[in-house]
Amino acid sequence: MTALTSSSQQGFVSLVGAGPGDPDLLTVKGYRVIQAADVVVYDRLVSQQILALASEQAEMIYVGKKLDYHCVPQDQINQILVEKAREGKNVVRLKGGDSFIFGRGGEELETLAEQGISFEVVPGITAAAGATAYAGIPLTHRDHAQSVQFITGHVQKDGREIEWSSLAQPNNTLVFYMGLKQSGHITEQLIANGLDANTPCAIIENGTRSEQRVFQGALSDLANLAQQAISPALIVVGSVTQLHHKLKWF
Ligand code: SAH
Repeated sequence: MTALTSSSQQGFVSLVGAGPGDPDLLTVKGYRVIQAADVVVYDRLVSQQILALASEQAEMIYVGKKLDYHCVPQDQINQILVEKAREGKNVVRLKGGDSFIFGRGGEELETLAEQGISFEVVPGITAAAGATAYAGIPLTHRDHAQSVQFITGHVQKDGREIEWSSLAQPNNTLVFYMGLKQSGHITEQLIANGLDANTPCAIIENGTRSEQRVFQGALSDLANLAQQAISPALIVVGSVTQLHHKLKWF
């Protein structure tokens, strides 16, 4: 079922991933549901060009979050979605990247499910896929990495520690979201758990946007690199990052 064919009086919520920055990376389905939306509830990392796809009559509600600071608390966001859907509106909940990857999309849908509100999920290109593609860093490569892991740099704050030994493996690519502030801790733990201090790393700042920058260095130098970078940025650890030199195109 799509938002367009939903016949219920009750409204409908499409959880849409807007992609990492370049507005052209929105999916065709995302494009369609944004154009048909009565209400768009959006986050900070969504580009103006994508917001401009909504109709002039659409109600635009900003609930953006900054690091360490939530403009609108999560339960209030959930409440907005429920209320607008109950008014019979076609609601688009628009988030950066993919909503199910460090996007709290699951939490919002749980509330909708509990309240009996119909929804759909339109996936987006997550930063790990988009930013590395634009940086010419393949996440896997037969000569370099047979696996890839996406990790949040926010674990400590949530009071949960990562299983570092499972990350510090050869032939593995690690992608840390929200990791800039934790780069010292990340380096320390990876080396303490056996990863070579010379393992190549990259930081991709503003991936897929015209102002994208890529920093490269060894794992032991990661915290220094991180000091030069600004948010949003991804930390990529693994020998695939060396391919940036050869494959950069953007
Ligand atoms: N749901 C989003 C991630 C939200 S968490 C997704 O799937 O991409 C926010 C983090 O994503 C940022 O701190 C940063 O680490 C990463 N990020 C988002 N957009 C980015 C971009 N254009 N370039 C680099 N990193 C980005």
